[in-house]
Amino acid sequence: MSLPDDGRTRPMISVICPCYNEEEVIPAFYERLTDELRALHAETDYRIVFVDDGSQDRTLDVLIGMAGRDERVSVYSLSRNFGHQAALCAGLEVARGDAIILMDSDLQHPPALIPGLLAKWKEGYDVVTAVRKETEGSSWWKRWTSSTFYKVFNALSHTYIVPGAADFCLLSREVCDALNRMPEQHRFIRGMISWLGFKRACVEYRADLRAGGASKYSFSRMLHLALDAVFSFSIKPIRLAFHVGLLFIAFSVAYFCYIVARYFYVGDLIAGWGSMMCVLLASSGVNLLCLGILGEYLARTYEQVKTRPRYVFRALTTRDKAGTPNGKN
Ligand code: UDP
Ligand code: MG
Repeated sequence: MSLPDDGRTRPMISVICPCYNEEEVIPAFYERLTDELRALHAETDYRIVFVDDGSQDRTLDVLIGMAGRDERVSVYSLSRNFGHQAALCAGLEVARGDAIILMDSDLQHPPALIPGLLAKWKEGYDVVTAVRKETEGSSWWKRWTSSTFYKVFNALSHTYIVPGAADFCLLSREVCDALNRMPEQHRFIRGMISWLGFKRACVEYRADLRAGGASKYSFSRMLHLALDAVFSFSIKPIRLAFHVGLLFIAFSVAYFCYIVARYFYVGDLIAGWGSMMCVLLASSGVNLLCLGILGEYLARTYEQVKTRPRYVFRALTTRDKAGTPNGKN
Protein backbone atom coordinates (compact mmCIF):
# COMPACT_ATOMS: atom_id res chain seq x y z
CA MET A 1 0.00 0.00 0.00
CA SER A 2 1.33 3.46 -0.86
CA LEU A 3 -0.31 6.81 -0.24
CA PRO A 4 -0.31 9.43 -3.01
CA ASP A 5 1.83 12.43 -2.20
CA ASP A 6 -1.07 14.86 -1.49
CA GLY A 7 -0.62 15.48 2.20
CA ARG A 8 -3.19 12.93 3.39
CA THR A 9 -2.36 11.11 6.58
CA ARG A 10 -4.64 8.10 6.05
CA PRO A 11 -5.75 6.18 3.00
CA MET A 12 -9.25 6.35 1.58
CA ILE A 13 -11.22 3.32 0.47
CA SER A 14 -14.46 3.05 -1.51
CA VAL A 15 -16.87 0.20 -0.98
CA ILE A 16 -18.87 -0.60 -4.13
CA CYS A 17 -22.24 -2.23 -3.55
CA PRO A 18 -24.43 -3.24 -6.51
CA CYS A 19 -28.15 -3.42 -5.71
CA TYR A 20 -30.98 -4.89 -7.68
CA ASN A 21 -34.39 -4.96 -5.99
CA GLU A 22 -32.87 -4.98 -2.50
CA GLU A 23 -35.24 -2.57 -0.68
CA GLU A 24 -35.78 -5.10 2.12
CA VAL A 25 -32.16 -5.64 2.98
CA ILE A 26 -30.41 -2.34 2.17
CA PRO A 27 -31.09 -0.55 5.49
CA ALA A 28 -29.69 -3.45 7.56
CA PHE A 29 -26.71 -3.78 5.20
CA TYR A 30 -25.97 -0.06 5.44
CA GLU A 31 -26.09 -0.17 9.26
CA ARG A 32 -23.71 -3.13 9.49
CA LEU A 33 -21.35 -1.72 6.87
CA THR A 34 -21.12 1.75 8.41
CA ASP A 35 -20.63 0.28 11.92
CA GLU A 36 -17.63 -1.58 10.57
CA LEU A 37 -16.23 1.34 8.57
CA ARG A 38 -16.70 3.86 11.40
CA ALA A 39 -14.70 1.64 13.70
CA LEU A 40 -11.81 1.86 11.22
CA HIS A 41 -12.21 5.57 10.62
CA ALA A 42 -9.18 6.64 12.67
CA GLU A 43 -6.84 4.83 10.26
CA THR A 44 -8.88 4.74 7.06
CA ASP A 45 -11.24 7.23 5.47
CA TYR A 46 -14.08 5.71 3.48
CA ARG A 47 -16.85 6.24 0.92
CA ILE A 48 -19.73 3.94 0.04
CA VAL A 49 -20.79 3.78 -3.61
CA PHE A 50 -24.18 2.17 -4.25
CA VAL A 51 -24.94 1.23 -7.85
CA ASP A 52 -28.65 0.70 -8.42
CA ASP A 53 -28.90 -1.75 -11.30
CA GLY A 54 -32.29 -0.62 -12.64
CA SER A 55 -34.31 -1.83 -9.64
CA GLN A 56 -38.07 -1.93 -10.04
CA ASP A 57 -38.84 -1.73 -6.31
CA ARG A 58 -38.07 1.14 -3.91
CA THR A 59 -34.32 0.41 -3.71
CA LEU A 60 -33.34 3.68 -5.39
CA ASP A 61 -35.56 5.77 -3.06
CA VAL A 62 -34.06 4.05 -0.02
CA LEU A 63 -30.53 4.69 -1.33
CA ILE A 64 -31.25 8.34 -2.08
CA GLY A 65 -32.57 8.73 1.47
CA MET A 66 -29.31 7.32 2.85
CA ALA A 67 -27.17 9.57 0.64
CA GLY A 68 -29.17 12.55 1.92
CA ARG A 69 -28.30 11.67 5.52
CA ASP A 70 -24.72 10.48 5.04
CA GLU A 71 -22.28 12.52 3.00
CA ARG A 72 -20.01 9.51 2.59
CA VAL A 73 -22.65 7.72 0.53
CA SER A 74 -22.93 8.16 -3.25
CA VAL A 75 -25.66 6.66 -5.40
CA TYR A 76 -25.42 5.88 -9.07
CA SER A 77 -28.27 4.48 -11.06
CA LEU A 78 -28.17 2.51 -14.30
CA SER A 79 -30.78 3.16 -16.99
CA ARG A 80 -32.01 -0.45 -16.79
CA ASN A 81 -31.00 -3.79 -15.34
CA PHE A 82 -27.59 -4.58 -16.90
CA GLY A 83 -26.64 -7.39 -14.52
CA HIS A 84 -24.39 -7.81 -11.51
CA GLN A 85 -21.06 -7.77 -13.41
CA ALA A 86 -21.98 -4.60 -15.31
CA ALA A 87 -23.10 -2.89 -12.09
CA LEU A 88 -19.75 -3.73 -10.47
CA CYS A 89 -17.91 -2.32 -13.52
CA ALA A 90 -19.96 0.87 -13.30
CA GLY A 91 -18.93 1.17 -9.65
CA LEU A 92 -15.27 0.55 -10.49
CA GLU A 93 -15.41 3.31 -13.06
CA VAL A 94 -16.70 5.98 -10.67
CA ALA A 95 -15.08 4.93 -7.38
CA ARG A 96 -12.30 7.02 -5.95
CA GLY A 97 -9.85 5.98 -3.30
CA ASP A 98 -6.58 4.18 -2.73
CA ALA A 99 -8.34 0.83 -2.52
CA ILE A 100 -11.72 -0.43 -3.67
CA ILE A 101 -13.83 -3.13 -2.03
CA LEU A 102 -16.49 -4.96 -4.04
CA MET A 103 -19.28 -6.55 -2.03
CA ASP A 104 -22.89 -7.66 -2.40
CA SER A 105 -25.52 -5.67 -0.58
CA ASP A 106 -27.55 -8.59 0.81
CA LEU A 107 -25.25 -9.24 3.82
CA GLN A 108 -24.02 -12.53 2.38
CA HIS A 109 -20.62 -10.86 2.21
CA PRO A 110 -19.98 -10.05 5.89
CA PRO A 111 -18.80 -6.46 6.51
CA ALA A 112 -16.89 -7.87 9.50
CA LEU A 113 -14.33 -9.21 7.00
CA ILE A 114 -13.34 -5.70 5.87
CA PRO A 115 -10.63 -5.19 8.56
CA GLY A 116 -9.05 -8.48 7.43
CA LEU A 117 -9.06 -7.35 3.78
CA LEU A 118 -7.54 -4.01 4.72
CA ALA A 119 -4.87 -5.60 6.89
CA LYS A 120 -3.66 -7.69 3.93
CA TRP A 121 -3.69 -4.62 1.66
CA LYS A 122 -1.62 -2.71 4.19
CA GLU A 123 0.82 -5.63 4.22
CA GLY A 124 1.36 -4.92 0.51
CA TYR A 125 -1.11 -7.12 -1.39
CA ASP A 126 -2.84 -5.55 -4.42
CA VAL A 127 -5.71 -8.02 -4.58
CA VAL A 128 -7.26 -9.51 -1.47
CA THR A 129 -9.92 -12.04 -2.32
CA ALA A 130 -12.53 -13.27 0.12
CA VAL A 131 -12.93 -17.01 -0.41
CA ARG A 132 -16.26 -18.52 0.60
CA LYS A 133 -15.72 -21.79 2.44
CA GLU A 134 -19.42 -22.52 2.92
CA THR A 135 -22.78 -20.83 2.60
CA GLU A 136 -25.36 -21.17 5.34
CA GLY A 137 -28.44 -23.02 4.14
CA SER A 138 -27.27 -23.39 0.53
CA SER A 139 -28.83 -26.31 -1.34
CA TRP A 140 -26.76 -29.27 -2.56
CA TRP A 141 -27.69 -28.13 -6.10
CA LYS A 142 -26.14 -24.67 -5.66
CA ARG A 143 -23.04 -26.20 -4.01
CA TRP A 144 -22.68 -28.79 -6.77
CA THR A 145 -23.20 -26.33 -9.66
CA SER A 146 -20.74 -23.91 -8.06
CA SER A 147 -17.98 -26.50 -7.46
CA THR A 148 -18.52 -28.00 -10.95
CA PHE A 149 -18.21 -24.56 -12.48
CA TYR A 150 -14.82 -23.90 -10.84
CA LYS A 151 -13.56 -27.36 -11.88
CA VAL A 152 -14.68 -26.93 -15.52
CA PHE A 153 -13.38 -23.36 -15.71
CA ASN A 154 -9.97 -24.23 -14.29
CA ALA A 155 -9.70 -27.28 -16.57
CA LEU A 156 -10.45 -25.21 -19.67
CA SER A 157 -8.73 -21.92 -18.93
CA HIS A 158 -5.10 -20.91 -18.38
CA THR A 159 -6.41 -18.35 -15.87
CA TYR A 160 -6.88 -19.99 -12.47
CA ILE A 161 -9.72 -18.99 -10.15
CA VAL A 162 -9.62 -20.11 -6.53
CA PRO A 163 -12.81 -22.15 -5.93
CA GLY A 164 -15.21 -20.07 -3.83
CA ALA A 165 -13.54 -16.77 -4.78
CA ALA A 166 -16.44 -14.78 -6.16
CA ASP A 167 -16.65 -10.99 -6.40
CA PHE A 168 -16.06 -10.10 -2.74
CA CYS A 169 -12.57 -8.61 -2.80
CA LEU A 170 -10.32 -5.62 -2.25
CA LEU A 171 -8.42 -4.09 -5.17
CA SER A 172 -5.64 -1.55 -5.02
CA ARG A 173 -6.03 1.62 -7.11
CA GLU A 174 -3.52 0.21 -9.60
CA VAL A 175 -5.58 -2.95 -10.14
CA CYS A 176 -8.82 -0.98 -10.38
CA ASP A 177 -7.31 1.29 -13.08
CA ALA A 178 -5.97 -1.73 -14.97
CA LEU A 179 -9.42 -3.36 -14.89
CA ASN A 180 -11.06 -0.18 -16.15
CA ARG A 181 -8.65 -0.11 -19.07
CA MET A 182 -9.62 -3.61 -20.22
CA PRO A 183 -12.05 -3.06 -23.10
CA GLU A 184 -13.88 -6.39 -23.19
CA GLN A 185 -17.66 -6.39 -23.37
CA HIS A 186 -18.32 -9.72 -21.68
CA ARG A 187 -16.85 -9.10 -18.29
CA PHE A 188 -16.26 -11.90 -15.84
CA ILE A 189 -14.61 -9.82 -13.17
CA ARG A 190 -13.07 -12.52 -10.98
CA GLY A 191 -11.45 -14.03 -14.09
CA MET A 192 -10.19 -10.64 -15.26
CA ILE A 193 -8.66 -9.98 -11.84
CA SER A 194 -6.88 -13.36 -11.90
CA TRP A 195 -5.72 -12.69 -15.46
CA LEU A 196 -4.19 -9.35 -14.40
CA GLY A 197 -1.92 -11.01 -11.86
CA PHE A 198 -0.52 -8.64 -9.17
CA LYS A 199 0.32 -9.67 -5.63
CA ARG A 200 -2.64 -11.57 -4.24
CA ALA A 201 -3.83 -12.86 -0.87
CA CYS A 202 -6.94 -14.77 0.17
CA VAL A 203 -9.06 -14.47 3.29
CA GLU A 204 -11.64 -17.17 4.06
CA TYR A 205 -15.21 -16.56 5.22
CA ARG A 206 -18.52 -18.25 5.75
CA ALA A 207 -21.43 -16.68 3.85
CA ASP A 208 -24.60 -16.09 5.86
CA LEU A 209 -28.12 -16.48 4.63
CA ARG A 210 -29.47 -13.55 2.66
CA ALA A 211 -30.72 -10.98 5.19
CA GLY A 212 -33.90 -10.44 3.13
CA GLY A 213 -35.30 -10.59 -0.40
CA ALA A 214 -34.45 -13.34 -2.87
CA SER A 215 -31.42 -14.34 -4.93
CA LYS A 216 -31.33 -12.74 -8.38
CA TYR A 217 -29.19 -15.53 -9.80
CA SER A 218 -31.64 -17.97 -11.33
CA PHE A 219 -30.28 -21.14 -12.95
CA SER A 220 -30.36 -19.54 -16.40
CA ARG A 221 -28.46 -16.46 -15.14
CA MET A 222 -25.84 -18.69 -13.51
CA LEU A 223 -25.50 -20.68 -16.71
CA HIS A 224 -25.15 -17.46 -18.68
CA LEU A 225 -22.37 -16.24 -16.37
CA ALA A 226 -20.63 -19.63 -16.54
CA LEU A 227 -20.75 -19.66 -20.36
CA ASP A 228 -19.51 -16.07 -20.47
CA ALA A 229 -16.64 -17.06 -18.22
CA VAL A 230 -15.62 -20.11 -20.24
CA PHE A 231 -15.94 -18.51 -23.68
CA SER A 232 -14.15 -15.33 -22.58
CA PHE A 233 -11.23 -17.15 -21.00
CA SER A 234 -10.69 -20.25 -23.10
CA ILE A 235 -10.51 -21.31 -26.73
CA LYS A 236 -10.34 -24.96 -25.71
CA PRO A 237 -14.01 -25.63 -26.62
CA ILE A 238 -13.20 -24.81 -30.29
CA ARG A 239 -10.16 -27.10 -30.16
CA LEU A 240 -12.33 -29.78 -28.56
CA ALA A 241 -14.83 -29.43 -31.43
CA PHE A 242 -11.96 -29.94 -33.89
CA HIS A 243 -10.76 -33.07 -32.08
CA VAL A 244 -14.25 -34.55 -31.84
CA GLY A 245 -14.63 -33.93 -35.59
CA LEU A 246 -11.35 -35.80 -36.21
CA LEU A 247 -12.52 -38.66 -34.01
CA PHE A 248 -15.76 -39.00 -35.99
CA ILE A 249 -13.88 -39.00 -39.30
CA ALA A 250 -11.48 -41.67 -38.00
CA PHE A 251 -14.41 -43.76 -36.80
CA SER A 252 -16.26 -43.56 -40.13
CA VAL A 253 -13.09 -44.44 -42.13
CA ALA A 254 -12.44 -47.45 -39.86
CA TYR A 255 -16.06 -48.60 -40.19
CA PHE A 256 -15.92 -48.24 -43.99
CA CYS A 257 -12.70 -50.32 -44.14
CA TYR A 258 -14.36 -52.98 -41.97
CA ILE A 259 -17.39 -53.19 -44.33
CA VAL A 260 -15.16 -53.49 -47.45
CA ALA A 261 -12.89 -56.08 -45.77
CA ARG A 262 -15.87 -58.22 -44.75
CA TYR A 263 -17.28 -58.05 -48.28
CA PHE A 264 -14.03 -59.28 -49.84
CA TYR A 265 -12.89 -61.80 -47.21
CA VAL A 266 -16.13 -63.13 -45.71
CA GLY A 267 -18.39 -62.42 -48.63
CA ASP A 268 -21.33 -60.78 -46.83
CA LEU A 269 -22.60 -57.22 -47.12
CA ILE A 270 -23.46 -55.60 -43.76
CA ALA A 271 -27.00 -54.22 -43.96
CA GLY A 272 -26.94 -52.49 -40.57
CA TRP A 273 -29.27 -49.55 -41.37
CA GLY A 274 -30.15 -49.15 -37.74
CA SER A 275 -26.54 -48.67 -36.69
CA MET A 276 -25.89 -46.42 -39.70
CA MET A 277 -28.81 -44.22 -38.66
CA CYS A 278 -27.35 -43.95 -35.15
CA VAL A 279 -23.96 -42.95 -36.54
CA LEU A 280 -25.61 -40.44 -38.87
CA LEU A 281 -27.68 -38.88 -36.09
CA ALA A 282 -24.73 -38.75 -33.72
CA SER A 283 -22.47 -37.15 -36.33
CA SER A 284 -25.04 -34.51 -37.29
CA GLY A 285 -25.56 -33.82 -33.56
CA VAL A 286 -21.82 -33.33 -33.13
CA ASN A 287 -21.79 -31.10 -36.23
CA LEU A 288 -24.47 -28.86 -34.77
CA LEU A 289 -22.75 -28.79 -31.39
CA CYS A 290 -19.47 -27.71 -32.99
CA LEU A 291 -21.34 -25.09 -35.00
CA GLY A 292 -22.92 -23.85 -31.78
CA ILE A 293 -19.51 -23.56 -30.08
CA LEU A 294 -18.18 -21.64 -33.07
CA GLY A 295 -21.29 -19.47 -32.96
CA GLU A 296 -20.65 -18.55 -29.31
CA TYR A 297 -17.24 -17.13 -30.20
CA LEU A 298 -18.64 -15.42 -33.29
CA ALA A 299 -21.45 -13.82 -31.29
CA ARG A 300 -18.96 -12.53 -28.74
CA THR A 301 -16.77 -11.08 -31.49
CA TYR A 302 -19.86 -9.43 -32.99
CA GLU A 303 -20.81 -7.89 -29.65
CA GLN A 304 -17.24 -6.76 -29.05
CA VAL A 305 -16.92 -4.98 -32.41
CA LYS A 306 -20.19 -3.12 -31.85
CA THR A 307 -18.45 -1.43 -28.88
CA ARG A 308 -21.70 -0.45 -27.24
CA PRO A 309 -21.31 0.83 -23.69
CA ARG A 310 -21.53 -1.99 -21.18
CA TYR A 311 -23.96 0.03 -19.06
CA VAL A 312 -25.59 3.45 -19.17
CA PHE A 313 -25.93 5.77 -16.18
CA ARG A 314 -29.15 7.66 -15.78
CA ALA A 315 -28.99 11.26 -14.53
CA LEU A 316 -27.28 11.39 -11.16
CA THR A 317 -29.75 11.47 -8.37
CA THR A 318 -27.58 12.61 -5.48
CA ARG A 319 -24.66 14.87 -4.85
CA ASP A 320 -21.81 13.43 -6.81
CA LYS A 321 -18.97 13.01 -4.38
CA ALA A 322 -17.19 10.18 -6.14
CA GLY A 323 -16.54 11.91 -9.45
CA THR A 324 -18.74 11.95 -12.50
CA PRO A 325 -19.32 8.82 -14.57
CA ASN A 326 -17.65 8.97 -17.97
CA GLY A 327 -16.78 12.57 -17.13
CA LYS A 328 -20.08 13.57 -18.75
CA ASN A 329 -22.89 13.55 -16.21
N1 UDP B 1 -27.33 -7.78 -8.46
C1 UDP B 1 -27.27 -6.71 -9.36
N2 UDP B 1 -27.85 -6.88 -10.59
C2 UDP B 1 -28.44 -8.05 -10.97
C3 UDP B 1 -28.43 -9.13 -10.06
C4 UDP B 1 -27.86 -8.96 -8.82
O1 UDP B 1 -26.76 -5.64 -9.05
O2 UDP B 1 -28.94 -8.12 -12.10
C5 UDP B 1 -26.73 -7.59 -7.13
C6 UDP B 1 -27.63 -7.98 -5.96
O3 UDP B 1 -28.45 -6.90 -5.56
C7 UDP B 1 -26.64 -8.40 -4.91
C8 UDP B 1 -25.48 -8.99 -5.73
O4 UDP B 1 -25.63 -8.48 -7.05
O5 UDP B 1 -26.14 -7.29 -4.18
C9 UDP B 1 -25.49 -10.51 -5.77
O6 UDP B 1 -26.76 -10.98 -6.20
P1 UDP B 1 -27.51 -12.18 -5.45
O7 UDP B 1 -27.38 -12.01 -3.97
O8 UDP B 1 -28.90 -12.24 -5.96
O9 UDP B 1 -26.68 -13.46 -5.93
P2 UDP B 1 -26.37 -14.80 -5.09
O10 UDP B 1 -25.69 -14.35 -3.82
O11 UDP B 1 -27.68 -15.44 -4.84
O12 UDP B 1 -25.47 -15.58 -5.98
MG1 MG C 1 -26.42 -13.02 -2.46
